[in-house]
Amino acid sequence: MTQHNVGMDPQEYTKLRERVFTTIWTELDPLEEEIENTEHLPLDKVMPALKDIGAFGFIVPAEYGGAGMSMSQYLPIIAEFAKIHGGIRCLVHVHNSFAHALSEIGTAEQRQAVLPGAARGDRSVAFALTEPDHGTGADLGSVATRTANGYVINGRKHLITNSQIATEFIYFAKTGPTEVSAFLVPRDSAGLHIRALPETMGCKGGEHGELTLVDVEVPHSALIGAEGAGVANLEAALEISRVFIAASSLGTSQRALELSLRHAKNRVTFGKPLEARQAIQRYLAEMAIDVQALGLMVADAGRKADRGLRIPAEASMVKQFGLEAVGRVTDRALLVHGGIGYTRKSPIERLYRDARLNWLEEGTPTIQYMVTAGQLIDGYQFSDPFAVGNDG
Ligand SMILES: Cc1cc2nc3c(=O)[nH]c(=O)nc-3n(C[C@H](O)[C@H](O)[C@H](O)COP(=O)(O)OP(=O)(O)OC[C@H]3O[C@@H](n4cnc5c(N)ncnc54)[C@H](O)[C@@H]3O)c2cc1C
Repeated sequence: MTQHNVGMDPQEYTKLRERVFTTIWTELDPLEEEIENTEHLPLDKVMPALKDIGAFGFIVPAEYGGAGMSMSQYLPIIAEFAKIHGGIRCLVHVHNSFAHALSEIGTAEQRQAVLPGAARGDRSVAFALTEPDHGTGADLGSVATRTANGYVINGRKHLITNSQIATEFIYFAKTGPTEVSAFLVPRDSAGLHIRALPETMGCKGGEHGELTLVDVEVPHSALIGAEGAGVANLEAALEISRVFIAASSLGTSQRALELSLRHAKNRVTFGKPLEARQAIQRYLAEMAIDVQALGLMVADAGRKADRGLRIPAEASMVKQFGLEAVGRVTDRALLVHGGIGYTRKSPIERLYRDARLNWLEEGTPTIQYMVTAGQLIDGYQFSDPFAVGNDG
């Protein structure tokens, strides 16, 4: 992104945001029990509700039929999704992140072919990087071999979210001994096989498939950017998406705090509500500190991205702080709730499990430390939080 992203007209945005929040709480939140019981997302209910509010095009540029939200406009929306069932949040997050990534790194032809359908929710782009037998980056085992007509790709990926709805995969493969390239691979390619993996600890109901590619032929036009630009593409795609994970940590933390406050008010032991106990007040205060700090960091990263700045350090720092914060907040929420919080009678049990995916999505802590330290060593300058006119 190089230009200032002003996003949607503020009045239109406010109206849409209200509609989205209403749908989240009236149509999607009630699906929690069904999803937890069946460990499947009822797509017949989820997809129409999401399509109705334009959820598949939140950050798809308006020229392709999306809402064209700025990052600052999208962040509170994905945070609100993270207050309800994590499987739904995951579906919306992955679709939007990688449709948006394609709008940034895809060729004009790829954008035109995929994004209008993606904005409507008729197509979906998934991100295929992680491999069962190799690390990521130059360690990938997937190989794309150049031929007269394009490339032949062989390899295996796993844990690929939205593999049940994806029509295209942004697929990373080696095109040289240390060179990685990204390709847009259609789901219906001959030789591409998808298998669902067993269910997950939290964010249940989504499919995180295993992809096997055997001599999959793609044309030259499937290459995203230049040959060998895969790692740069990868970083560009994951940078803002790390901020979206941090916003998800924020939403889950806000919900856990809200539920904890309510419980502390209503639960009476030894003649007093829990909220009157200093020990419980400390838990609540610690949760509030994390929510406050994380909110400000997320907003700062969003505003910088909207100004057209690259934000690798901010994105990794906020992603890391966010997962630590939501970890602490959901721990405290469990303590405030006592035993009932550990049962499915309380949403805390699910929020706790859902939040743990935030450790893994868009890179583990070791990756965030590596990116942050690398940026510092390369001379990263902190922005002045007190600068005049700096609203974030
Ligand atoms: C529900 C779910 C959905 C996912 N969705 C997607 C998706 O849509 N697309 C996708 O591509 N991936 C997806 N992933 C994969 C996820 O991004 C990875 O699991 C995560 O990045 C860790 O990679 P790994 O599993 O290969 O772990 P490993 O690489 O095996 O890492 C294990 C541990 O070792 C550390 N480690 C590994 N290598 C190094 C090193 N060189 N230096 C220091 N530490 C190291 C890691 O930080 C981690 O702590 C998903 C995962 C889950 C659980």
